[in-house]
Amino acid sequence: MRNWTPVAIVLNVLAVSCTNSGTAPLDGGSSADASSSTNADAAQEGGFTATLVDVHAHIWPLNKEDNDKYIDDLAAVARTERVRIVLGLHASQPPHRPPTYSTDHDTWTLEAVSKYPDVYIPSLNGFDPADSASVEYVRTQLATGKWKVLGELDLRNKPKQTTTPANHANMMQMYPLAAQYKVPVLIHWESCYPSDCTAGEAELNDALTKNPSTTFIFAHTCPIDQMKAHPNLHCEHEVQATPLPSDGFDRVMVGTDIQQTSLQVGYGPGKSRHYRDTIAEIRAELAKLSPEDAERVAIGNARLLKIVE
Ligand SMILES: [Zn+2]
Ligand SMILES: [Zn+2]
Repeated sequence: MRNWTPVAIVLNVLAVSCTNSGTAPLDGGSSADASSSTNADAAQEGGFTATLVDVHAHIWPLNKEDNDKYIDDLAAVARTERVRIVLGLHASQPPHRPPTYSTDHDTWTLEAVSKYPDVYIPSLNGFDPADSASVEYVRTQLATGKWKVLGELDLRNKPKQTTTPANHANMMQMYPLAAQYKVPVLIHWESCYPSDCTAGEAELNDALTKNPSTTFIFAHTCPIDQMKAHPNLHCEHEVQATPLPSDGFDRVMVGTDIQQTSLQVGYGPGKSRHYRDTIAEIRAELAKLSPEDAERVAIGNARLLKIVE
């Protein structure tokens, strides 16, 4: 029997982190230690050696000016914390507005990468997976060779009220494109939304089985049982959502899902932490693993998937 409890837990985190923009309390617990100052010096010189990849972060889609400042602020923290960040659209959602996709937002992502090529890694997702015109857009964009990841794609997503099946006809055309261009696909998937969990699981299994050459990354949590059944399924673990899995470290990566201009990461109802503190928490968690597994999860697996060099 598959254990989907972690997914249920993460949904509570998502429902809050995605809807309380800018209102979460600042806990102010930054950790300016000696190593941070050394890293800050390195960042000042315009380069740093990343030791961790955050495979899940978003732009701020509501206002370009606010987004530009956020991109600057986040890059500064990433450099001092030695993190590279996979950046893509945060398709806005209620109560701000319905999920809103714009190819302009992919342009914003590329601008951020152009300004901070040492920090940001571009992820393509300024399109609605449910729109048939998106297939051609994805084909054209991937052919440019600029994109390292496809996603986060909102398929079945409760906070955003999207219900696109994982094996939707559009998706079944995009997955082979992703395989062709060797770009992993980061999916937001809630099997039980809007209704039938069994049917939802079957949809994802169908997509995984029929696209064995496509690398899928399950966002927010690690469905280890399903990963065991599908060698092309990887996952993004989030420290604020679920405990670190106990095995499968050759296919586990880490992410934060940061999406607030305040640099706060959502931890569930009324809770958030500064990005810097979340990164420290991730590193503390990885320190409990063997050095080999910790390195894989922090950056090695992202290297194998060609997300970073
Ligand atoms: Zn998500
Ligand atoms: Zn996200």
